[in-house]
Amino acid sequence: MAHFDLVIIGGGPAGLTAGLYAARANMNAILFESKGVGGEILNTDLIEDWPGEQSITGRALAEKMAEHAERFGLKIELKAVDKIRSEGDRKIIRMADGTEHTAYAVIVTVGGEPIKLGVPGEEKFHGRGVSYCAVCDGAFFKGLDLAVIGGGDSAFQEGLFLTRFAKKLHVVHRRNEYRAQAILQDRLLGMEKVKTVTPAHVKEIGGDADVKWIDIERNGKVERIPVEGVFIFVGFKPVGRHLFEEHIDHDDNGYLITDQYMRTNIPGVYAAGDTRAQLAKQITTAVGDATTAVLHAERYIEELKHAEKTFPKAEPRVLAEETERVRTIRYVPGETIIKKGDVSDRFFIVLHGEAVAVRDDGTVVTTLENGDHFGEIGLLKGTARSATVKAKTDTEVLVMDRASFERIVTSSAAARSDLEAEANERMKALQL
Ligand SMILES: Cc1cc2nc3c(=O)[nH]c(=O)nc-3n(C[C@H](O)[C@H](O)[C@H](O)COP(=O)(O)OP(=O)(O)OC[C@H]3O[C@@H](n4cnc5c(N)ncnc54)[C@H](O)[C@@H]3O)c2cc1C
Repeated sequence: MAHFDLVIIGGGPAGLTAGLYAARANMNAILFESKGVGGEILNTDLIEDWPGEQSITGRALAEKMAEHAERFGLKIELKAVDKIRSEGDRKIIRMADGTEHTAYAVIVTVGGEPIKLGVPGEEKFHGRGVSYCAVCDGAFFKGLDLAVIGGGDSAFQEGLFLTRFAKKLHVVHRRNEYRAQAILQDRLLGMEKVKTVTPAHVKEIGGDADVKWIDIERNGKVERIPVEGVFIFVGFKPVGRHLFEEHIDHDDNGYLITDQYMRTNIPGVYAAGDTRAQLAKQITTAVGDATTAVLHAERYIEELKHAEKTFPKAEPRVLAEETERVRTIRYVPGETIIKKGDVSDRFFIVLHGEAVAVRDDGTVVTTLENGDHFGEIGLLKGTARSATVKAKTDTEVLVMDRASFERIVTSSAAARSDLEAEANERMKALQL
């Protein structure tokens, strides 16, 4: 079993972006990918909406993204993750081969899988004329009549790719209107070899050893269309939630629900890209999600480590939950962080910089550095602030509210008594 700070699951655009940022930040991170690094875009012909590249094949873009992340030191392992569970403040990541790893945080970027039509013949002829990937299989159908099923961007993009091989291409869609971008509609539907079949429902896929026809129902009548390849693009089903042993919030369609920082309801678990509930299932949004997720995860891990050092005997699960609720605040040199006599409502841990506790006459009682904490005396004793603390340098502090502080110190008797002993020592030093 290896321990990582961060585990990224899925090596598509979202995972590779999270991995790039994690590697550049020198995080102890790893990316697990079950198939091939690059994700869904490996199966896409031309990408024309990735800013900076007017037109690039999906494969080329995937390779560039992977090479970029690896050049900055991202560790990638081609292994499938089976299940994830929480234990204390760690996530246990069980691999398909049975081995387990642990991490403080996990970013789930596993995308999804194509939705099936669910008609007779679809399963039987899968791989023998039925396909969900034109780029993978299109070349096997040179000079044949084909059908593409669907009316969205994927169906039209893949349809365009299939026109390189098809003698005739039937575009079968259940409505007369398409959801595909106008530019894709103009290109595909303007081609002579393309025939539209709408509004039509596929009823059956049939043939002998391989596909030979589809039956469609149009205006109440069933028609048989001879085709030798059926390419199905009728939607997408996210798979992220199936990785979790415990409940993870998802919407009615199974997409993982996150907040603005890509946090799911499980502390330390983030979701990004196509597996997350978001409007646009695009490369641009996948990489944006992933950037937010990894930057927040980095902060969460640092804060959790500080919280663990400060409360070594507290219940780890409570620490993880409450770390999700802390904030970080920056102070400039000389700025007051807490003032003697103020209400004691927050607890502080220094993340970066130096702060000083001062007496009324300005004498420095103690200097607080990275990892040191303050503010506990008033919270434990139920009194007002007993000293003033000011930033000495640019200082970043982790700020925990009273409810979080109390939940942590009451999570274990030892955690509370240790902190009380320390507070008493500090009171002596402050001559209180
Ligand atoms: C036909 C088609 C054409 C498209 N064209 C465009 C386009 O032109 N422009 C555009 O912006 N978007 C396009 N998209 C959408 C784009 O591909 C996705 O939005 C993007 O790939 C999402 O990235 P992702 O990283 O979230 O997921 P994915 O790319 O789906 O990557 C998920 C990765 O996770 C891996 N994985 C899954 N389960 C596990 C597991 N248990 N353990 C380890 N790894 C796992 C998968 O193998 C996969 O590599 C297209 C999609 C399709 C299907």
